[in-house]
Amino acid sequence: MLQKTDKIWVDGKFVNWDDARIHILTPSLHYGDAAFEGIRFYNTDKGPAIFRLKEHIDRLFYSSSVFEMKIPFSKNELVEAVRDTVRINKIKEGYIRPIAIFGYGSMGLKHTKEAPVHVYIAVWPWGAYLGKDAVRIKTSNFIRIHPKSTIADAKISGHYINSILASLEVKKHGYDEALLLDYEGNIAEGPGENLFLVKNNSLITPPLKRQILAGITRDSVIKIAKDLEIRVEERDLKLKDVYNADEAFYTGTAVEITSIKELDDKIIGSGKIGKLIEMLKKEFLDIVHGKNKKYENWLTYAY
Ligand code: PMP
Repeated sequence: MLQKTDKIWVDGKFVNWDDARIHILTPSLHYGDAAFEGIRFYNTDKGPAIFRLKEHIDRLFYSSSVFEMKIPFSKNELVEAVRDTVRINKIKEGYIRPIAIFGYGSMGLKHTKEAPVHVYIAVWPWGAYLGKDAVRIKTSNFIRIHPKSTIADAKISGHYINSILASLEVKKHGYDEALLLDYEGNIAEGPGENLFLVKNNSLITPPLKRQILAGITRDSVIKIAKDLEIRVEERDLKLKDVYNADEAFYTGTAVEITSIKELDDKIIGSGKIGKLIEMLKKEFLDIVHGKNKKYENWLTYAY
């Protein structure tokens, strides 16, 4: 269940949590053309620090641009708005959800030229997303949205029906999370995560071909690994590569770095959380909690 906080930022003003409402004839609700982000902030010695805020705001603008939405705020204004929202709610750690929608005023598919654009920012405490250190996943029968049906690397609300269907399918059978393939049978991503494998002490992850989300955690893990002199390869992967991996893990703002112990009932590696994952996870958690000066530019402090 959502844990309420005090205030939600709505178009430049704060309103009470319960008052951030929309009209039932909001076009983005009907057609799915809203752009949103998921961002985490962590407690540090210098107060709450928002992880890679600038990159998340850049992605929000990219996502909205693909369907020609014009966000009526600058990137800097939204960076400041996120900081304000974290401060006003006085929580130390949690999740941030900015969303830009087409609001009430027009209907039908022409609304994108006519309806007003509204931006909302909410924050709330949110702990471990999958609730486990190591998860059992299953390949979904749904493939990831086809890159010729939509602009698949944008974070657009409507895309998430694909994630929801895949999740419902595998959760019905008792798995913790789904894995989706692309239309060519390559590994795409999870419903809300990017996938990494460890093989012979190297990291391997599917390439960005505008078919999967360019995860900000994915990018962070690649940079951290390279700094630790771990080889990183971006290439197409098949299911058998995952079955035969030494370690596998998901990355994402919600799941952070979460070990995958089984795929399709096949145990990966030793079935225990691997050495490389442990190392990357420790480094990641140190960075987000402000304990590694080298990555200080990834943190935006709320105060
Ligand atoms: N893929 C999908 C489909 C997602 O929804 C997410 C979560 N935003 C990710 C990957 C991971 O992206 P990030 O690390 O930026 O949260």
